[in-house]
Amino acid sequence: MPKKNIRLIYILSLLAFISVTAISPLTAGESDKRTRVLTTFFPIYLFTLNLTYNIPDLQVEILLPGDYGCPHDFSLAPDDIKKAHLADLVIINGMGLDDFIEDIVGGSDEMSVIDATSGIAPLPSRAVHTGHDHESDGGQWNPHPFASPLQAQAMIARIAASLAQHFPRYAELINANAADYLSRLDSVVTQYRSRLTNLSHPKVAAVHEIYDYLARDFGFQIVDIIEKEPGQEPSAREAIALSSELRRNKIAAIFSEPQYSERMARTLASELKIPVYVIDPVATGPSHPPRDYYETVMLKNLENLVRAMK
Ligand SMILES: [Zn+2]
Repeated sequence: MPKKNIRLIYILSLLAFISVTAISPLTAGESDKRTRVLTTFFPIYLFTLNLTYNIPDLQVEILLPGDYGCPHDFSLAPDDIKKAHLADLVIINGMGLDDFIEDIVGGSDEMSVIDATSGIAPLPSRAVHTGHDHESDGGQWNPHPFASPLQAQAMIARIAASLAQHFPRYAELINANAADYLSRLDSVVTQYRSRLTNLSHPKVAAVHEIYDYLARDFGFQIVDIIEKEPGQEPSAREAIALSSELRRNKIAAIFSEPQYSERMARTLASELKIPVYVIDPVATGPSHPPRDYYETVMLKNLENLVRAMK
């Protein structure tokens, strides 16, 4: 994020804080006792909902709408800043994807930020950020470990440990929820491992760099991606170069995802005479997801992964 915007955000954030303090109908004595845990976008929200199951005192909120997807180009509005200031704890994906929120809450002593991907062995990013809004995007690491069930487990364990530390009175419940969630994901990982062995066609392409951890963890290869800048289709010249690269590599399929347009993937696929499969990276989801949403989507994806590469 450009420095001038950071200053603007501080000013907006101060104004938002003052207005929240001024208009809040609650006084200290009658305040809502529930603790607000703010998550940035869908996968972090889903993981945290599972970990706080049966703990009504922890109110989990999501900053972005569930169908927003990766917040690559997200800019905070004054309402978001207000929401962040009302939170007792903020949980982010990290790796440059959503740490815009640290610009607001970073200086506050009373606010803590949990980085769910801290400790994960990162993959380099393939994204090219040409926009002026990306100075603080990191851009160095691929920020999508949540799309691999194995990395999701590491993120869940990390969030659980931090939540238990922040809320020691609920540590036992949080740890029990974590154990249950991790064992459900163990079953997903086991099925992925057993069905994605000896792939006959392990080379594919993707719309954006969201399956790189999934590919690393389960032995296939994303040869290239269509949108080097997330949300931006390639130019005609780039599309021709990409098409010949994919042809040379004899890729088996193109993986598209619900959060991005399929148009370019369909065009390239019909040129290369290969199929397009929708693989949902769980970057988006319903506002009130069932607890097993991640596992259900990942197992549905597994059928398409097998179909595409076996
Ligand atoms: Zn993304």
